[in-house]
Amino acid sequence: MAVASASAAGLAPALAGARAVPLFARRGPLQETGARRWRVRGPVPPPRKERRLPGAFFRIGPRPAHATIARMKRILIALLCGASAWAGATGTASSVRDREIATCLPGEAVTWGDGLDRPAPGHRVRLVYRHAGAPPWFDEALVLGALQRAASAWSACGIPAEAVREAAARTSGGDDPAAVTLVQWSEAATRGNFALANLGDHTLSLSAAMFRLLAERNPHHPASQTLQMAISHEMGHFFGLMAHSRRCVDAMSYYTNGRGETCSTRDGGSHRAVVEYRSELPTACDIARCRAVNGTKGR
Ligand SMILES: [Zn+2]
Repeated sequence: MAVASASAAGLAPALAGARAVPLFARRGPLQETGARRWRVRGPVPPPRKERRLPGAFFRIGPRPAHATIARMKRILIALLCGASAWAGATGTASSVRDREIATCLPGEAVTWGDGLDRPAPGHRVRLVYRHAGAPPWFDEALVLGALQRAASAWSACGIPAEAVREAAARTSGGDDPAAVTLVQWSEAATRGNFALANLGDHTLSLSAAMFRLLAERNPHHPASQTLQMAISHEMGHFFGLMAHSRRCVDAMSYYTNGRGETCSTRDGGSHRAVVEYRSELPTACDIARCRAVNGTKGR
């Protein structure tokens, strides 16, 4: 995911302590490149133009309005046809946010139009986790568990997914290399973000430095929640979701578009009502979009 900014608005809620600022807030032109990252601070975003990153194929900058509108219409039509009441991972809905996580109503699955969704490469997702370089308070089982929860939740899309330890990963001659993603801890690969998905390199990278900063700024914040959210979001890119959701609660959401517009909630409330409105796991709309772009019906 990506994003954010050199300003306080870009800080993760946890990093900002009691201030309810979004982890994924972003500013300026839509700049996520498919590899997404959660930046706490960083350079001014690039000018509003398209460019391609080495080894990746992500767009930076806004899409042409006509293309964006046409694509959003296609997504909406697909979602309306297959609109589901996917039972989310949260069980019984008791609040607006809970209901948003569990159900995707017609017309709700709208994106910022900042990316072009496409089917998951290989039509499956296999993640191999390398624990080296992780912060000491994240043991291997904890991170692998977060990966497996996200993989299990996303597989509701109808795309098989699994996460395994690198040590346990066996070379499979039948594996499509495009469907295997290395999950690693790397400052170089995350480039100042909490996490970054690079579809060109088939890596999902996490930043130990950012989690250390989180621990320093707010030692009471449950870092495992931030980890789960980051993993769920980045993993969504490997399922083919390149555009970011305008629905605040979606794992694939951006809270703002940098032009004064903010994400939506079902009751019109602000995502700032809670420290972090975004779901830790993919929501019904995340899954509906995934099914639509992959042509699947779910499991
Ligand atoms: Zn993203």
